[in-house]
Amino acid sequence: MSRVFHRSARADPPLADHGDGSVIVGADGRRYLDACGGAAVSCLGHGDAEVVAALAEQAARLAYAHTSFFTTEAAEALADLLVEASGGALARAYFVCDGSEGVETAVKMAHQYHRECGRPGRTRVIARRQSYHGNTLGALSAGASAWRRAMYGELLLPTMSHIEPCHPYRLQAPGETLEAYGRRAADALEAEIRRLGAENVSCFIAETVGGATLGCTPPAPGYFARIRDICDRHGVLLIFDEVMCGMGRTGTAFAFEQEGIAPDIAVVAKGLGAGYVPLGAVLCAQHVFDAFRDGSGAFLHGHTFVGHPVACAAALAVQTAVRRRGLLAHVRTKGARLRARLDDALGAHPHVGDIRGRGLFQAVELVRDRAEKTPFDPGLRLHERLKAEAMARGLLIYAVGGGAGGAGGDHVVLAPPYVVTDDEVEAIATRLSDAIAAVV
Ligand code: PMP
Repeated sequence: MSRVFHRSARADPPLADHGDGSVIVGADGRRYLDACGGAAVSCLGHGDAEVVAALAEQAARLAYAHTSFFTTEAAEALADLLVEASGGALARAYFVCDGSEGVETAVKMAHQYHRECGRPGRTRVIARRQSYHGNTLGALSAGASAWRRAMYGELLLPTMSHIEPCHPYRLQAPGETLEAYGRRAADALEAEIRRLGAENVSCFIAETVGGATLGCTPPAPGYFARIRDICDRHGVLLIFDEVMCGMGRTGTAFAFEQEGIAPDIAVVAKGLGAGYVPLGAVLCAQHVFDAFRDGSGAFLHGHTFVGHPVACAAALAVQTAVRRRGLLAHVRTKGARLRARLDDALGAHPHVGDIRGRGLFQAVELVRDRAEKTPFDPGLRLHERLKAEAMARGLLIYAVGGGAGGAGGDHVVLAPPYVVTDDEVEAIATRLSDAIAAVV
């Protein structure tokens, strides 16, 4: 009998023994092709010797030093790398342990920023429906995944409100161009800011490419440029949650690079440490940092494991490897290949409503009726059955429900390691098609 409080209180998951590139090997010797990097985490694959060496070296040299006393070379070098990767759009990095903590930190940073600037009334946070920002109470309040929030409604923050996401597959009107839809979707933010009163609004938080709940939905062209303009005109900070889509997943270090604008604050995690360590980072623009430096002098925040040296050293090795091995280009070419194979195998399937994404971040949405885009009955738990069918075929996929709003909608997120091979791309498309055939 297991003494671990597993995700399911009724069944224990199989024992994972070791990793090998894009494969996780079970204790029973079964090999699972990791087509989702767990949850878009394992971007370098499993068992990377360079990362393991960097991690061990830092652990032996200095495993831990509290950030109220010291900084470390590992944290400094990782911050330099991330700031440089942002092209100077972001100036400082605050290291946390995961995505939820990063989102909490970003929202608090925006809140205190306005206080430092003499605007204590700016307390409202605007986010988007069908978003996911994490499971701690603040991050869960920012997110709008209906089924994740349902249990904890009474505990969620009343200062959050939600506008419609930019989701062309479901929300673009017939006859409307993608650009016109993008403008309309962005204007929902301005309407909400006016409704709340701009003097009350702190920040707008959005996933640059919608991940877990929206299923790899890239923004319509011009959407975020317009959002940036709206935020600037109303003095609202723009926070990009790139926990899932950042750190190379869409083919550029930050997903926002492809939108031609930059946020005031960006949150990254998952691929930052590639699963070798739990690590997230909140990056802010110079003007945000300056407000703290010229104001009270300190961010009223901080956890015990902020800037953990071993985590920073491992992430530094991961990010250095991504750059030295040319893996961003690999994400673009293998992403295009994966997309082409999914289009071939599933593009005409009567129950595949949409295939979308960027880079090695692709989603397949299943529908009962393709023309009407009607989701399957949520009671069927189709995504769960699909995950089980895929796993039985040695394929790990991130299958989620609720993407169509409420409890409805079933989609699969594919986010394999950046080192995925052509043969593995082929196996992903084939095994996923077989699993879909088996459940629908
Ligand atoms: N934001 C986004 C966009 C995410 O996808 C996730 C995790 N799926 C989180 C935040 C929360 O991250 P974590 O699970 O590391 O707390």
